[in-house]
Amino acid sequence: MVAKVIDGKAVALKVRAELREQVTSLVERGLRPGLAVIIVGENPASRVYVANKVKACSEVGIASTVHAFPADTEDTIVEGRIRALNQDPSVHGILVQLPLPESFDVRRVLGAISSDKDVDGFHLYNVGGLVVGDTVFPPCTPFGVQKMLEHENIPIEGQNVVVVGASNIVGKPMALMLMQRDATVCICHAKTRDLAQFTILADILVVAAGKPNLILPQMVRTGAVVIDVGINRLPDGRLVGDVDFEGVRQKASYITPVPGGVGPMTVTMLVHNTVQSAARHLSARYH
Ligand code: NAP
Repeated sequence: MVAKVIDGKAVALKVRAELREQVTSLVERGLRPGLAVIIVGENPASRVYVANKVKACSEVGIASTVHAFPADTEDTIVEGRIRALNQDPSVHGILVQLPLPESFDVRRVLGAISSDKDVDGFHLYNVGGLVVGDTVFPPCTPFGVQKMLEHENIPIEGQNVVVVGASNIVGKPMALMLMQRDATVCICHAKTRDLAQFTILADILVVAAGKPNLILPQMVRTGAVVIDVGINRLPDGRLVGDVDFEGVRQKASYITPVPGGVGPMTVTMLVHNTVQSAARHLSARYH
């Protein structure tokens, strides 16, 4: 068996075309969606991510603003800017680009974002909504994975899902979202003993550990769907995921590449959440 490679760029383009139509309709009704992006420090990867988000927004007609602060800024200054943006009616989504400098209390900064503008879905209110299956803003990376599975008509209900990685931004929300869709979910992490005994059971294997070649063909069940969230820069400059792509591809039914898999979907779902937030603000105006 040779897996179908899921083209994340193509799925993302399709979703973005739908979003562009929604933005046009919102603009016709008098509201242009707005996103504010906060970045602190000079992390080059963060700057690239922010530039990608701004570009994706402008492609669909969202107005975005970047609020950049030097690394030595007091976190209270950044929180003050967030509070001002919470009150700004032209802003429907606020995101803080992570990581923040070590001196920052990340939980407190993220908690300053109004829960109804929290398009990254990291505010505790939205995390709680995810747990009870009633979230407004699903976190963008796992939301993008879910969208890809739906796009390929891959069944989720009753499937064995193994998520490798238990971070707050990818692994845990991914597991919760697929559990809400009636999958049987197992979460593995760095202290999991004998990872392969779990991964081999997966009908759908989602890997988000940040370790190149963590998943080898012998760890994957024939016909499994393999979603590689990892992004790793090798010493030779190449960008790879966490999965041995060429090896696992010979065994899986579907696989996502890196780059060009989950990455484009993450940015797209941020755009999606911002458009949904603007639509919610518009309907709140009339109620
Ligand atoms: P993170 O916060 O570092 O979390 C990594 C998780 O993987 C942790 O739960 C860790 O376990 C687990 N882990 C590490 N080594 C492992 C091992 N050998 N076996 C099993 N589990 C292991 O990272 P993250 O933010 O979730 O990101 C994960 C990867 O996805 C990174 O490569 C990141 O660049 C990428 N990413 C991609 C996108 C995208 O759009 N494509 C978006 C976000 C992140 P412990 O909890 O026990 O430490």
